[in-house]
Amino acid sequence: MKHEYEAIVIGAGPAGAACGITLQKSKVSNCVIDKAVFPRSKTCAGLVTGKTYKLIEELFDNKIDDGIFCAVSSEIRLFSRTELLTAAPITNPVRLVNRIDFDNALVKRYLELGGKLFEGERGYTIDYKNSSITLSNGDVLRGKTLIFADGALSQAHKLIDVPREKLAFGVEAYVPSSVIGTKSVDLYFDYLENGYVWVFPHGDTVCVGAANQYNKNDDYIKVLSEVLSDLGAKAARFSPTDMSFPRASSRKMSCLRATRADLPTRFRARGFICR
Ligand SMILES: Cc1cc2nc3c(=O)[nH]c(=O)nc-3n(C[C@H](O)[C@H](O)[C@H](O)COP(=O)(O)OP(=O)(O)OC[C@H]3O[C@@H](n4cnc5c(N)ncnc54)[C@H](O)[C@@H]3O)c2cc1C
Repeated sequence: MKHEYEAIVIGAGPAGAACGITLQKSKVSNCVIDKAVFPRSKTCAGLVTGKTYKLIEELFDNKIDDGIFCAVSSEIRLFSRTELLTAAPITNPVRLVNRIDFDNALVKRYLELGGKLFEGERGYTIDYKNSSITLSNGDVLRGKTLIFADGALSQAHKLIDVPREKLAFGVEAYVPSSVIGTKSVDLYFDYLENGYVWVFPHGDTVCVGAANQYNKNDDYIKVLSEVLSDLGAKAARFSPTDMSFPRASSRKMSCLRATRADLPTRFRARGFICR
């Protein structure tokens, strides 16, 4: 079977789903393909800035279910290890999300608007020249534009002549807020070179993570254990087996920018896609 679309979006994370929602609202025929089946998890501290929140409100036509936000914070604190360096109010409060729920809510919104999602698609092939995709069941999707929103390690990278940037690497744990509590968004320095540790409120839990520019000599689990111990998890006889731990992920340190004008698409590793 053949399907024709104005645009085919690859990846249904926040960038891809937001793109699909925007296309639906603009009445531009489109579909979205993701290799995962939703809801799916994603390693992420889940901080949503005030500016991003406004954009999310737009995507949901101001009828956003506040239940997708697990915490709001109006204060940031910076530490050198456990020594508080400074605390400052955040004028435009930040919100925190659990990425499983948040990404799923965006995908649901896309579907509510009549979007077409092909999920769990792993065996598809892309014909870049003809801007078409053959799905694993043999169906052919043809799109005037292919939009790559498939994350930091996008397969479209090979289309541009920008060298891959150094990867960042992070580990993350979710700890009950009764063990480590914070209402502010806390950043800790001096545990890792070229990186930092975050402790963010997530409702009943606190997200504790550590990331830096990847260095194979760094023992990330040891660093995270040290942080947890310093923050009192050890004192409370907190066991690593109680955590969703370790969750590790790699991503680019910064956005990629396409340099060649003749690409079928331009993409960024994070954020929105433009034609
Ligand atoms: C440890 C960590 C902490 C972070 N903390 C924050 C934070 O607090 N706040 C913040 O704003 N950002 C944070 N980020 C960054 C944030 O996670 C990314 O910016 C965001 O996920 C990018 O969204 P995206 O839609 O571009 O990509 P993704 O969320 O990665 O989604 C990409 C989608 O594409 C799909 N996909 C991948 N490859 C293919 C393929 N070949 N075919 C089909 N589908 C494919 C994936 O299944 C996925 O659903 C963090 C990242 C990490 C790693």
